Amino acid sequence: MRYNNVGTSGLKVSEAGLGCNNFGTRIDEPAAHRVVEAALDAGVTLFDTAEIYGDGRSEEMLGRALGRRRDEAVIATKFGSPAPGTGTGSRRHLIRACEASLRRLGTDYIDLYYLHFPDPETPVEETLAALDDLVRQGKVRYIASSNLAGWQLVDADHVARAAGGSRFVATQLEWSLLERGVERETIPAARHLGLGVIPYFPLKSGLLSGKYRRGEAFPEGSRLAGGSYFARVATDENFAVVERLTEYAEAGGRTILQLALSWLAAQPEVPSVLVGATSPDQVAANAEAFVELTPAEIAEIGRVAAGAHEADGSAA
Ligand code: NAP
Repeated sequence: MRYNNVGTSGLKVSEAGLGCNNFGTRIDEPAAHRVVEAALDAGVTLFDTAEIYGDGRSEEMLGRALGRRRDEAVIATKFGSPAPGTGTGSRRHLIRACEASLRRLGTDYIDLYYLHFPDPETPVEETLAALDDLVRQGKVRYIASSNLAGWQLVDADHVARAAGGSRFVATQLEWSLLERGVERETIPAARHLGLGVIPYFPLKSGLLSGKYRRGEAFPEGSRLAGGSYFARVATDENFAVVERLTEYAEAGGRTILQLALSWLAAQPEVPSVLVGATSPDQVAANAEAFVELTPAEIAEIGRVAAGAHEADGSAA
């Protein structure tokens, strides 16, 4: 396992991070404990949760699962929700949210605290000042954002610098071989600011794990078999990308899981890739799937995913 600094900060995290949004939703507490134990055994240090996952149950389960090993972990959690008009970036909400997360996690500090979604109804000055207070009180070690556009990242950084307070050290974004939109504007902004970029949905809910095939039933118990919200990623267009990547992976003696995780990890802004898991076997497979890719492979994987290798005639 490799350990990387988050952006220009001194915070080190494991290349494979564990996403905990399945805790209290798709898996119960004993299963969550097994997943966390497998992650710690594989050298994972970054554990990602949020106040909204399972209405707080994810944080509770993660805290209890880490137990006495809490200091080995970098706990990342998030405040706020995508619901409009809830003022979740306000001083009033976020200080209360932080206290509640600390209680649920059973810890007295959060290593990395994220603004989960932009809050257009609260000035970012207010959010940053309240977060800076939490840092000064020792309740939070580092602050970060999630789902912000490039201009919002730049704006927040300028505001924090002008105030002389804590700056966001990272941003969490949906980024995968099936979701490349952030490469146009948000990633260049993050790179310019020296922010770490921590991708979520790296497997597009499992579509890039290799276990789903076009025209076949979803495997029993899998996330896509569980309901239409996630199953909507199983489009013909996405399957076409999966098939191209599988062919390319197999020709080089690799798996699509390796390509999906290692291609993200190879991006210079990315200190850690957040993968969710429902079993210890998935945790182990994901931790082992981070392989070294050559610069030529990194470029070609990006082209194969985009279908550009067909247009320019380069081999898949
Ligand atoms: P993901 O990593 O794309 O998909 C994870 C799912 O794929 C697992 O729950 C599992 O589902 C399946 N899977 C994982 N490894 C596998 C393997 N080796 N073989 C076969 N199937 C495998 O998406 P995610 O877990 O939802 O996202 C990662 C994390 O990002 C979340 O846990 C959360 O912490 C974070 N996140 C953040 C935001 C945000 O707004 N900031 C949004 C979403 C997620 P099944 O076993 O159920 O099929």
